[in-house]
Amino acid sequence: MSELAETIFSKIIKRQIPADIVYEDDLALAFRDVSPQAPVHVLVIPKKPIPMISQAEADDQALLGHLLLVAKQVAKDLGLANGFRLAINNGVDGGQTVDHLHIHILGGRAMTWPPG
Ligand code: AMP
Repeated sequence: MSELAETIFSKIIKRQIPADIVYEDDLALAFRDVSPQAPVHVLVIPKKPIPMISQAEADDQALLGHLLLVAKQVAKDLGLANGFRLAINNGVDGGQTVDHLHIHILGGRAMTWPPG
């Protein structure tokens, strides 16, 4: 992993900083957001340091599909039978603050639309 790719999420992957991890496999990690915006707020990340979805490449197709399947499994495991929202923020206008691709899983309350 290059220096440039180092983010707080890389440090979570390497267990250099703590996180409340709810799922892990060879390709992905899921952990609770430190500043939850819903009763359940989990981030699903690839272990590969893709900075943002706009920088994903054709080779990442299977990985991206895997992340969505992990997200639906984590949502099920955390009891979000009534529904949930998946969100990916991309870049400055997308509200992205950590440059390591992540899927937000938000649930445990009714979501509103449009988002802010
Ligand atoms: P985004 O704004 O889409 O880039 O989302 C980044 C998310 O990472 C925010 O919801 C933060 O609350 C969350 N976050 C930042 N640092 C940590 C951390 N150390 N552990 C868990 N979540 C974090």
